[in-house]
Amino acid sequence: MREHGCPEEDLFSFLLSKRQEDLGYRNILSSMCTPPHPVAARAHAIFLETNLGDPGLFPGTVALEELLVRRLGTLMHHPGAGGYATSGGTESNIQALRIAKKLKPVGSPNVVVPASAHFSFLKACDILGLDMRVAPLDADFRMDAEAAAGLIDKNTVALVSVVGTTEYGMVDPIAALSDVALDRDTFLHIDAAFGGMVVPFLDNPVPFDFSLPGVSSISVDPHKMGMSTIPAGCLLTRDPNYFACLNVETPYLTVKRECTLAGTRPGASVAAAVAVLEYLGMEGMRAVVTGCMENARRLIEGMETLGCPRAVTPDVNVATFSCDRAPAGWRVSRTRAGHMRIVCMPHVTRDVIEKFLKDMSDMHA
Ligand SMILES: *Cc1c(COP(=O)(O)O)cnc(C)c1O
Repeated sequence: MREHGCPEEDLFSFLLSKRQEDLGYRNILSSMCTPPHPVAARAHAIFLETNLGDPGLFPGTVALEELLVRRLGTLMHHPGAGGYATSGGTESNIQALRIAKKLKPVGSPNVVVPASAHFSFLKACDILGLDMRVAPLDADFRMDAEAAAGLIDKNTVALVSVVGTTEYGMVDPIAALSDVALDRDTFLHIDAAFGGMVVPFLDNPVPFDFSLPGVSSISVDPHKMGMSTIPAGCLLTRDPNYFACLNVETPYLTVKRECTLAGTRPGASVAAAVAVLEYLGMEGMRAVVTGCMENARRLIEGMETLGCPRAVTPDVNVATFSCDRAPAGWRVSRTRAGHMRIVCMPHVTRDVIEKFLKDMSDMHA
């Protein structure tokens, strides 16, 4: 560290110069994050110093976390769901598998995940000592429910499936997987980190949530399509008592025990997540999601006109193409299989799509 502190003006010109090295979201087509909604930014600033890790000191912020869980639980057709605000999909997935493992103590536990599972499950399995069994996908990149059922055995502690896969934006056949989970008496965790804030706002949402009796827990991330500030995730469980198995004693805090993975936890991004849900309501969220889906459709149509066929018709706003090259100045990403991948987040407006298509077309000309 410096011996003498740096003058504030110098400090902030240094910080701003670093911030300017960051890319603006304007040309980022590869991210599942997006600039926070203005009400999220405003709420975040008010709750900057709050710590949900010591709830007795911040009862107001705790009430907002409970409201977030109630709102998201209700959105997932279970107003009485248990839950807490995590740092995102990774923590939610780790904690869900931790619960599943505790609920079924076996010698050499395994989990069955789809080949499309997010890499956070690699971390979860490594930390928890779980053998990861990978179920194949069907031609539309959805988990093959029958193959998944075939991988379940007496040591399987959880079956995992995805609503809005990170790479192709697909929704697994959750109703069929729910039947498998009930039939085999297996914990079913739904990773709806991305799709949990999309599918409920589509015109004809397919059931994927607690309305299906086999679903045990759901990850959903307000810091993606929920337009909250980072970090804001949420883990929901059908049975609020599931969390009790994670409790550890906390000697010097205002509460006696804690079931979360993190200790000190931000209240600011939780207040921000609540702010967006309250401000937009179902109607506002439907408008955002409808816009993103329309933009994804327009992008797919435009790309196909340019000779870049879609890899699949996505269930949520992630579009993928057989296309070798992206025009300069744009950030797209690649799936493991090599398809070009574009996430039509709220900042990827119709205008942005048209500019990208124009640049694509100029590049091909
Ligand atoms: C983004 C994502 C995750 C990981 O969430 P983080 O917030 O980055 O930890 C997990 N699963 C799915 C399906 C995702 O889209």
